[in-house]
This record gives sequence, C-alpha cells and structure tokens, in this order.
Amino acid sequence: MTVPYHRFRKQLEDGESTCETTVVSFLAQIRAHESLNAFVTVLEDRALEKAREIDRKLAQGGAGSLAGMVVAVKDLFAMKHVRTTCGSRILERYHSPYDSAVVGRLEEEDAIVIGKTNMDEFGMGSSSENSAYGPVLNPRDPGRTPGGSSGGSAAAVAAGLAMTAIGSDTGGSVRQPAALTGVVGLRPTYGRISRYGLIAFASSLDTVGIFSSDVTDCAILLQALAGRDPRDATSSLLPVPDYAEALRSSVRGLTFGLPREYYGEGLSPEVGEAIHAVVSLIRESGGEIREISLPLTDYGIATYYLICTAEASSNLARYDGVKFGLRIDPEGDLRRMIEETRHEGFGSEVKRRIMLGTYVLSAGYYDAYYLKAQRVRTLIRRDFENAFRECDVLIGPTSPTTAFRLGEKSEDPMAMYLSDIYTVTAPLAGLPAISIPAGLDSRGLPIGLQLTGRAFQEENLLRAGYWIEQVRIRQTGCCQPA
Ligand code: GLN
Repeated sequence: MTVPYHRFRKQLEDGESTCETTVVSFLAQIRAHESLNAFVTVLEDRALEKAREIDRKLAQGGAGSLAGMVVAVKDLFAMKHVRTTCGSRILERYHSPYDSAVVGRLEEEDAIVIGKTNMDEFGMGSSSENSAYGPVLNPRDPGRTPGGSSGGSAAAVAAGLAMTAIGSDTGGSVRQPAALTGVVGLRPTYGRISRYGLIAFASSLDTVGIFSSDVTDCAILLQALAGRDPRDATSSLLPVPDYAEALRSSVRGLTFGLPREYYGEGLSPEVGEAIHAVVSLIRESGGEIREISLPLTDYGIATYYLICTAEASSNLARYDGVKFGLRIDPEGDLRRMIEETRHEGFGSEVKRRIMLGTYVLSAGYYDAYYLKAQRVRTLIRRDFENAFRECDVLIGPTSPTTAFRLGEKSEDPMAMYLSDIYTVTAPLAGLPAISIPAGLDSRGLPIGLQLTGRAFQEENLLRAGYWIEQVRIRQTGCCQPA
C-alpha cells in the first residue's frame, strides 16, 4: 500500500515530490511485482509523458482535481490507441479508437493512467482466474486469489502498484476483490458514473467502480467521475453532491440495518465476528442499530445468474469475427468463420454463460426462467425499499469468506457463484454499496465489511465508511493490513 492520494497531493503542492519521480517509482514497483500478473498492459512511456506535463501544470497553476493521481484501469475500459482486451483472447489485438468516459474524465482532471489491469474474461468470475492472460495473485498471499472480476485493479492498489484503480461491478466485481485484498471498493448507484466505453457484460447491472486505499481517496475519485454524460443514456441527471462534506460528519444520527439473513449458513465465523465487532463500536458511539429482514436474499444468486447470462448472451453476440477483434476464417465460409472465431476466442466460463443465457431466453423457457427472474428482481428491490424505511445504511459482510486458494473453486462453478451471495442483490436493486477493510482473520487475510445505501446516497456510505476507518485507525494504529 502506498500513501493515499490526498496525502501525496499535499506533498506535490509543498514541492516535496514530483509526478515524474513518483511514476518512475510506481513503474519500478510494477516490475518488482510482475509475478502478481495484475497488469495486462503497462503504459510506461505514456504515463511518464503525462507526469512531466502535469509537473509543468502544477508549477504554472491550473492543474486538475486529480493531478498526479496514479491510477490503474481495468482492461475493459476503452482507451484511445491502447489495447483493450477485456481479459479475452477474442480482443487480444483490439485497439480502441476512442476513450471511455472514465478514462476521459481521469485525464481531464490530470490523473495518470499507469496501465490496464487483468481481469476475469468480460467480467465473468469471482477469482480473476478466468483470464486469457493467466490468473491474478493476491498480494496478501500469492497462493490465493484476489477475488474478481476486477482482481488486477484490487491487487494493484493492495500491492502499491497504483494509488487508486478503476474497476467495473456487475454483481460484486469491485466490492468482493476489495474485501479479499484489504482495500476500499465502491460500487456507485446505477447511473451515477457514465459507462460510455465500458465494454458491456450485463447492461442492466454494469457500473463503474472505484478502488482506493482509503475512503477519502474514494470520495475524491467519485467526485471527479460522477455526473451526467449525454453519451450514456442511463447516466443520471441528478446533481452530484459534495462528497468531501460527507467525510466530516459522524455516524451519530444514522440508523444501521443489520439484515438477519446475512448471518446464517455459509458465513465464516471469523468474518461474522469482525462485522459484529464494528457493529458494537457503532452502537457505543451513538449510531443506531436495528435488526431488519431481507427475506429474498436466498434468491439473489439464482436471479442474478439468470439475468446476467441472458444479457451477456445478447451483448457478446457482437464478437463474430466481422467487426472487431479476432477473426479465424479457414475456408472463406461465413458460418464457419463465426463459429471458429467464437470457439477459439472465448474461454470456457464465457461459453458457459452464453449457452445458459441463450437457453433462458429461448422460446419455451423464457417465461419459466428469464421472466420469472425479472419478477423476483422486482421483489428483491421491494425488500430493500422496505428495509430502507427503517434504516439509512445496511451493514454486513462483503464476502462469506476471506480469500480462497487459487484453483479451489475453478472446477465448481456453483461454489464460485455462491461466493457472490452478499454482493449480487444491491446491483439487482440498482443500489450503491461499498466494501471497507474490517480487520484480518487468523491467517492474516483481510476481511471486508459491506455498507449498502439508498439510491444516489453515496454520501451515507462514505460518511459511515470514513467513520469506521477512523475508529479502526485509532484502535489498531493502522487501518490496513501490513
Ligand atoms: N462474480 C460475478 C460474476 O461472475 C460478478 C462479476 C462482475 O461484477 N463483473 O458474474
């Protein structure tokens, strides 16, 4: 872990550091940690050039709100003239002709994109093992997964290879890897950050997410990225509040809901204890705790995996060897070309999801699976609406366990899917949620605590998250695992 950006910014302004020397040292760290396999592409020359440009701007005045922030970007965000693989062989040689909104905003605000991070192919997975470029290792224990699908982004922040990182969260791909690597991970409300140039997996669920080493940096980055973008029709017109303001208030006056269903079977006792320890602290400090119920929690996984596979089967139809990416054309036969390209280009998890999704959308099964899942989705949304009548923020675990071993679940898709139990429901309801480090288990592996809020009330998550972070710093002398 490096110094958080907000502290580095002060060093920059006080003339104690420069962007160029900082980028040089990050590049050295990236080389020293190559075995983590966190990056697919490192943008060495581009980052150095940008660093020099920002150093000049800082000297002259007029540098942006993210000046000098070294950011790693998940390799599913388009970046002009840079390879964007999505962790897939099918896009191995694809160079985007345009910048995604996120990359555009980062560069407008003078952040420095240091590289594109490794990930589960098309965002499908919970361990970053489904990448055509090899698995990502967890910097806390290289025999374990960093979670997924944004595992490269999480590992980059946890290992100090970037100050912050961008990921995408469809069903937990920012929060779960944040939990498993001991960093902060935010999934904002659906529509809060433009997805223009984010390669689609499941369009009714995909969001841009943020990784950082602390809550303050998360707020800074959210401030810079949130807001309406006419190029993304799903981006919200609601004004963007001042997120830094949220970091100044305490948990007093906030009511926390403790979902009864989150503390049952499958939850590691050590994770449960860590969450309860934080709950006790909140109670002692004047925050109100109320037990609530989310009765449909058990249906979250089935609903999510029906909807996301249906949407994926439709979104991934565009990879046909004609428009972009890989083309395998043995005999000049159109049908064979499409078949061979998809056969060679996609990995097995992606194929599994395309088949599942095509099946649940097919005539005769549509009503039984897809339509039913849509109805249950509405009920899940109502569950949350009812809960938020009684509280402001829900508190629970991010992941049922700490980081699992590489290979442990890769042969068993059901076991892998079940690890998403706590992260898939907020996306189904379009709600924001954040994972905050909440201590270590007996093996020294990070535990993540998840806070879920009402739509467009990221302030409450940042406020509560910041408070928890400060209390933990006071308690332990350090908020992050060593
Ligand atoms: N693990 C979940 C899945 O495999 C979530 C992925 C994501 O959020 N991109 O679908």
